[in-house]
Amino acid sequence: MRASQLFFPTLREVPAEAEMISHRLLLRGGFIRKVAAGIYDYLPLGYKVIKKIEKVVREEMDAQGAQEILMPAIVPAELYQETGRWNLDVLFRLKDRNDRDYSIGFTHEEVVTDIIRRDLRSYRQLPLNLYQIQSKGRDEARPRGGTVRGREFIMLDAYSFDRTWDDLDRAYDKMYAAFSRTFARCGLAPLVVEAESGAIGGKENQEYMVVADSGEDIILVCEKCGYAANAEKAEIGERPVKKSDDELQPLELVDTPNARTIEQVTSFLKRSPKKLVKTLIYKAGEQVVAALVRGDRDLNEAKLASMLGVKSVEMADPETILRVTKADVGFAGPVGLDKSVKIVADREVQGMMNFVVGGNKTDAHYINANIGRDFEVSEFGDLRVASKGDPCARCENTLTTVRGMEVGHIFKLGTLYSEKMGAGFLDDDGQEKPFIMGCYGMGVSRMLAAIPEVNSDQDGMVWPISVAPFEVVVILLNPDDEAQCNAATRLYEELQQQGVDVLLDERDERPGVKFKDTDLMGAPIQVVAGRLAGEGKVEVRLRSTKSKEEISIDDATAHVLELRRKLYQESEDKAQAVAVNPQLH
Ligand SMILES: [Zn+2]
Repeated sequence: MRASQLFFPTLREVPAEAEMISHRLLLRGGFIRKVAAGIYDYLPLGYKVIKKIEKVVREEMDAQGAQEILMPAIVPAELYQETGRWNLDVLFRLKDRNDRDYSIGFTHEEVVTDIIRRDLRSYRQLPLNLYQIQSKGRDEARPRGGTVRGREFIMLDAYSFDRTWDDLDRAYDKMYAAFSRTFARCGLAPLVVEAESGAIGGKENQEYMVVADSGEDIILVCEKCGYAANAEKAEIGERPVKKSDDELQPLELVDTPNARTIEQVTSFLKRSPKKLVKTLIYKAGEQVVAALVRGDRDLNEAKLASMLGVKSVEMADPETILRVTKADVGFAGPVGLDKSVKIVADREVQGMMNFVVGGNKTDAHYINANIGRDFEVSEFGDLRVASKGDPCARCENTLTTVRGMEVGHIFKLGTLYSEKMGAGFLDDDGQEKPFIMGCYGMGVSRMLAAIPEVNSDQDGMVWPISVAPFEVVVILLNPDDEAQCNAATRLYEELQQQGVDVLLDERDERPGVKFKDTDLMGAPIQVVAGRLAGEGKVEVRLRSTKSKEEISIDDATAHVLELRRKLYQESEDKAQAVAVNPQLH
């Protein structure tokens, strides 16, 4: 490709809304352009990177025996209705001319399960893994960061079907290897963290998180034992409770007019939120539950549900709160609560004394409440969202936090979808059994952003060779100089003949512009045909280290091929090092 013919509209000024490094660089370099919120064009350079990421994905998926298919982007409502997902907020819904409902596919568990229930009948046809790379639509409330969280995005989604749970473990490990190797080859070294399963459902699952300050997710990490989990999931270790030796103060009901929030109560009573206990009223089925956490902490609903042995909990409605507390929302407390309410508390509350709680009376709070004297707690446990400094649940160390950007998520779904959709097979004992499924998603267009987010410097993007828009750029500094022109053209043609993806920058531009554009674009190897060409030499540079070498023109092609081979070898070495799941073996 010649740069004079390449469409890459670079920008000097970037829109103020582009805050993330990768978003600014991709816009500046002419890789992407915004069409609408969360909806982007991929221009030639951006789409080249996308296609190279997809190539790596296909190689790794195929190597694990997965088979590529393509499912429709438009999904009939009936399929999502079968599993109860038709009403999710993220669906882009549409109607056909006959008033039938459809949605743009946002993930394809239902569609693929429908394929299998139609055409796969016997255990002999298992295991099976089908994958696709496709544009999906999700009506995200807050699209951000260019292609980081788009409303239309390109995704790999793979689905495994197995006969037994052990087979599912094997299928999952294969996808773990494929994902880990893909990210490594794309220049990413994500943390693999335990996560909540969210809207997809299922049991064991792990997220691949690229550590970046701009990441949306908070990850709790133990630097000692390697435990890593999303904040929604992270467990907090149990430690012996230290009761303070303060004297018990008398319980007192005090007026707190209009003070409902923690901020209002603490500023009115002039007490730290650490001396206050929040009482959150939930419903777990028919049971009303009061969950207590320290004033400065957040309750984790998944942990509450798990303690109560239910799938999910929901905040109690105002009528229920009025019935059990005899007060408006905002004044619930454990003292004098209706007897039907089960009181549970976070472990941290166990060590607290003389704390503030809601008064179960509008505009009133108790001060100096104490467990055992003023109310009883039926169970203590890990109920809150973990934060920095909390004890690790796997060792004696404490947890720290990093920010992460999710690039992949792998799930053991089990029979969640196959049972809902009646998708089963005949086993060798003649019994009809539901398929045991896994699903595996990777954000391809998000990787277009995640890679430069962590692989860039002040001059621009630094692409790993596997996914760079070009492997090599040959810069012809002065197109009017015959020696430079001959050197550049010769190397460009020789490299092309060797199968190298090379760009020749022969534009009629100042050298400074060419260097700037080349660094911004971020191709890993640069060959400069400049003044040295008169002496039979060119300069070969590496984008990542900015190292420069003078090489004779006769040797330059062989030298570049050797550099290229080494870069691919380094990426393969990294891929081999990460292919086994350390958390599960
Ligand atoms: Zn630990």
